[in-house]
Amino acid sequence: MRTAEIREAYLSFFEEKGHLRLPSFSLVPENDPSLLFTSAGMAPLKPYFLGERPIFGGKEWRRVTTCQECLRVGDIENVGRTARHNTYFEMLGNFSFGDYFKKEAILWAWEFLTERLRLDPNRLWVTVFQDDDEAYAIWRDLVGVPEERIGRFGEEENYWPGGAITHGPNGPSGPCSEIFYDRGPEFGTPDETGPNTGSGDRFVEVWNLVFTQYDRQGPIPGPGILKPLPQKNIDTGMGLYRMAAILQGVEDFYRTDTFFPLIEEVVRLSGRPYEGKASVPHRVIADHIRAVVAALSDGVTFSNTGRGYVVRRLLRRALRYGYLLGLSEPFLHRLAPLVAELLGDFYPEMREHLEATVRQVRLEEERFLETLEGGLKRLETLLSGLKPGEVLPGKEAFRLYDTYGFPLDLTVEIAAERGFGVDTEGFQKAMAEQQERSRAHMAFEREIFKRSAEALEELYAERGATEFLGYTTLEGEGEVL
Ligand code: ATP
Ligand code: MG
Ligand code: MG
Ligand code: MG
Repeated sequence: MRTAEIREAYLSFFEEKGHLRLPSFSLVPENDPSLLFTSAGMAPLKPYFLGERPIFGGKEWRRVTTCQECLRVGDIENVGRTARHNTYFEMLGNFSFGDYFKKEAILWAWEFLTERLRLDPNRLWVTVFQDDDEAYAIWRDLVGVPEERIGRFGEEENYWPGGAITHGPNGPSGPCSEIFYDRGPEFGTPDETGPNTGSGDRFVEVWNLVFTQYDRQGPIPGPGILKPLPQKNIDTGMGLYRMAAILQGVEDFYRTDTFFPLIEEVVRLSGRPYEGKASVPHRVIADHIRAVVAALSDGVTFSNTGRGYVVRRLLRRALRYGYLLGLSEPFLHRLAPLVAELLGDFYPEMREHLEATVRQVRLEEERFLETLEGGLKRLETLLSGLKPGEVLPGKEAFRLYDTYGFPLDLTVEIAAERGFGVDTEGFQKAMAEQQERSRAHMAFEREIFKRSAEALEELYAERGATEFLGYTTLEGEGEVL
């Protein structure tokens, strides 16, 4: 089944079950400043779980189904390294706002997987929250899943949001039940005996059914109080690309129909073959360009703060992986039309804004490659000066960051490839000193500004206007990038 067919099968299945099909919401959350990007199908629908009336097209709909594009920057380290994580991905979902509950959600998920998609029921495993006897009984007695394939886990795995009872956040939450597909022992590690065990790729989580029935309130960290919501809700999320990989019988979702043409283009441009797991650069490039095109198509522009910064970071990361493949000229903008071709039927904004996207990507690439080249040369020189066992001094890592826009993770990654560590504490110290200097500088500027605009201009003329090419701390992530 092609990816588009799976998407359509899902949406029409839930339409048959009385759901209204809505188009994907934007990647940029409309009324939720707390959220950088839409990261799950339920995010744009949150008010309806809390009791706001779900009116669409002048009519009330208590059942809705969507295919939502999502961006999870938090998964960036996993991209290319696991066979199941993207930054940009699509999540299929069916939602109940105070309408049906656990029984229907579970029975329909099972029906869709085993009858519509014809997955082998013997390969499906499920998990429930440790205290959720109700969900356990539905799986065992109504669906007929054997007890040895039903796992009970704690709030980190089987409560949504993960660990919310203990750590927060406050808001709509509930126990969840996850469905896993067993790809077979050849994909696992010996310690992997079922979902959420071991460290292999054998049990792939494909679908999460969330029973949104509590409003978590109280101190953070907790323990919080779980106040029953006035209505019981259902929120589910099925990963489209994970499902595509399973149904297309490929061990690696970069080999599915909406990814592989991008991988092939990277192969063509670089002359470097694709070797699955060993080809992290190909994978990162294919993943990140999709995220960049999707975000720009939803109105984000490259910048040094907020969303624009995240997109800038994705582009730069992809470029640096390209550089590893010998792609030292701008090339990402050449992949953008392919992304629009592969995903544009469902996300027409990608086609609408393609020209502007290509232009912006190209400009951004040109600017960064100039600095990247300088920085890589500098880092090479520094690394070849190190003796085995030595680490790159934090001060030098900070200079690379400050002057060439090298985020620390990039320096650490490149150094590690050559067998060296980086003094990250020293980096943080240099960063803190710089922030102190910049605070003092800002105070000075504010002081000048109070006197006159001319005085400020004089000051700039004196120092020379320096363009900021480096990275900034991203608010909320608490991580120096
Ligand atoms: P995992 O444990 O594998 O990281 P998750 O529990 O974080 O997944 P959920 O938040 O439950 O994922 O999201 C619902 C579904 O969306 C998952 O079951 C999975 O199929 C899909 N999904 C989640 N994160 C990603 C990702 N980074 N890339 C692709 N698909 C994803
Ligand atoms: Mg996850
Ligand atoms: Mg999980
Ligand atoms: Mg999950």
